[in-house]
This record gives sequence, structure tokens and C-alpha cells, in this order.
Amino acid sequence: MYDIEKIRADFPILGREVYGRPLVYLDNGATTQKPRQVVDALVNEYYSVNANVHRGVHFLSQQATQLHEASRETVRRFLNARSTAEIVFTRGTTESINLVASCFGEAVLKLGDEVIVSEMEHHSNIVPWQLLEQRRGIRLRVIPITDAGELRLDEYARLFTDRTRLVSVTHVSNVLGTVNPVREITAMAHAHGVPVLIDGAQSAPHLAVDVQDIGCDFFAFSGHKVYGPTGIGVLYGREEWLDRLPPYMGGGEMIRSVSFEKTTFNDLPFKFEAGTPDYVASTGLARALDYVTALGMDAIRAHEQELTRYATERLRSIPGMRLIGEAPCKDAVISFLVGDIHPLDMGTLLDRLGIAVRTGHHCAEPLMRRMGVEGTVRASFGLYNTREEVDVLVAGIDRVRKMF
Ligand code: PLP
Repeated sequence: MYDIEKIRADFPILGREVYGRPLVYLDNGATTQKPRQVVDALVNEYYSVNANVHRGVHFLSQQATQLHEASRETVRRFLNARSTAEIVFTRGTTESINLVASCFGEAVLKLGDEVIVSEMEHHSNIVPWQLLEQRRGIRLRVIPITDAGELRLDEYARLFTDRTRLVSVTHVSNVLGTVNPVREITAMAHAHGVPVLIDGAQSAPHLAVDVQDIGCDFFAFSGHKVYGPTGIGVLYGREEWLDRLPPYMGGGEMIRSVSFEKTTFNDLPFKFEAGTPDYVASTGLARALDYVTALGMDAIRAHEQELTRYATERLRSIPGMRLIGEAPCKDAVISFLVGDIHPLDMGTLLDRLGIAVRTGHHCAEPLMRRMGVEGTVRASFGLYNTREEVDVLVAGIDRVRKMF
């Protein structure tokens, strides 16, 4: 039983007002709100456990280490990875992708090698590869999309050459909401002997992820988008790959022994975790994953799918409404434009009505160009949003429309 009122009561911020109106928070694609269970865990750890991890013999350090490593196990279970050695804590999706770009770039990529991305990527899955174009002379190949916002798999199949070294694509588009067929994408790449990185920033919060089922070699997501704290994220990497790659940053934690003659590196996953990790945030992330797991990812998905269906239907009835992204398999993201109202004007006026949406290019400028727009308004739903909030959004948009 999905008890939305009980769920909402776990998120104190949802009870606040902005401009004297009840907050309608529809910017979950940017970041999600945090339940008490997460914030309480952070406060509790700072007040009663805090000590640096992995390096102290004393009681608190050992307790903090146990919590941190238990969190890694929670993440492993959430992704269904084979081992905690495959779970690297990072600051978020951006850092996870940069880690792969940097280490994979160093270990594998040579002048003229090719990396495949898609037209619907977030900048954080474009720019790290472009840096490698400049630094190592690699080439980016781009999977085109259809007008509805789906990947052209026929074109994808044609992009493979004997220089293809990696495929890096998003699981769910943060603009179009398209859920990409990542299993098929991975299988096609593996048929060419090419590894795959999946950007899971927009999928981990909304659907059950099983990295073994997808078959991918790397998977990245951010804690703050899945009801966890900011500043923590995850890179899943197949052990064979993480073993093969050189370290990312150097420093404490990632070494076994250091001398001026020879330094040896720590075991996985610590080889990739230089310096003091955010061991409090990892606890918060684990509580967030516990939270969504207890609700059930399938129940969350069903709730959000129903909300997205309802919102799409209601939005379509607004005169001048143009939906950007109409793939049949969509997640809880709706991008739109109304008549020739500038997205920024729409967003600003909705804000005065207490409705938080995102406007602009959503860190996906190439996608904006592909869709022939400068920007969009984006409503993105979370596990706590309601039909009533969709009604407020629709009434708000209609009110703005009539003003113009
Ligand atoms: N990838 C996608 C698809 C995203 O939507 C985002 C954030 O909006 C990111 C990557 C970057 O995530 P972060 O800023 O948490 O590193």
C-alpha cells in the first residue's frame, strides 16, 4: 500500500510555503528532498560516532568504519553488484564519469580511438570525453535520436568501428524522460568487445537497477538525486575493469605502502578513494537507499508512472502546449513549452505560485539544438508528488498562458 500522506510526512520541507503558497516541488530531476530518516542519520553520526575511517584503532573510528563499509554493502545490494570491491564512493555522477574518463583514458585510449555517446547526454557525459579529444586525440561518435526522443539503434549499430573503445550513454534522459534500452545497448557493444558505461543519475531514483542484468561495465549515480545527501555518489565498475585501471587521485587511503622508491596501491575499491571519504554522507546515502527499498522501487515506479501519465494527459489539454520528448517508454520527467512563452518567464511566474520547476537547457545543450529549442520548462516528479500537485501545475501554466 503506497501511503502518500505517510510518505510526505517523512519530508518536512514539503510542508513549507513559498510566497505564502504551499510548495509544489517538481524539480526532482535536479535534486530530491530528504526524508527525516536520512537527515537524522547524518545528525546522529556527527553527534555520536564521528571519527575518521579506516585508520584508527579507537572505538569511534572502528564504529565509523563499520558504518561506512556497511553503506557500501547497502549500495552493492541496491545495484546488485557482485562484490563491494566494485562499489567506489565518489562525489556524484559527474565525478564517477570523470573518474572513468581519466583512468580508462590513461589505460586504454590512444590517438584515433573512438568513444560513443548519444545526442541526449547531460554535459557531464559529454565534456569529460571532449577533454580526452583534446588531450589524447580520441574521437567522439554520437548516436542520433528520433523526433520523439528515442535513440536510433540502427544508427548506433553503424557507429562501431575497429577503433571503438567505449560506449557511454544515459539510462534515462534528464530532459526527455526517455528510458533507454540499456541491456540491448550493452549487448550490442559487447558483441564488438566494447565496454559500456551507464549514466544512472536519472534512473537510480526511479527504477530498480540491476547492473548484472544490464550487463554494463560501469554505472554512475548521485546520492542527492535518490533522496540522499549531497556530495556523495557511486561508481560501480566490474572488478576486472577496476583492477585494470590506474588510480584516479593519489593520496592517503588509496595506497598500501609508500616510499620514495616505490609506492604500491590499495585493494579495490580503495585504490580509487584517495583522501578522507565523506563517511557521514555514505551513511545518509545508505539510509536513503533503505528508504526507497522499503517502499519498493517497483511501487515507486508505478506511482511515478501513473503521475507522469496523468500529468501528460492534463498538460496536453492546454492550448499551445508542446511536449518535448514523447518516447513510449518514459520516466518521471516532462519537458514542455507553451506557445512562444519563454521558459524563463514560465518558470519565474510558476515560482510565484509556489511551483518549483526547472527551466533552461538542463545541461544538455546539444540535445536542445537537436530538438530545435533554446530551452524548456521541466517538471520532474519524485516519490512524494501527488495528483493534486499536478493539478496545481496545470492550473498555474494555464494562468501564465492567459497572462501572455
Ligand atoms: N547525468 C544526468 C543524466 C543528470 O541528470 C545529471 C544531473 O542533473 C548528471 C549526470 C550530473 O549529476 P551530478 O551533478 O549529481 O554529478
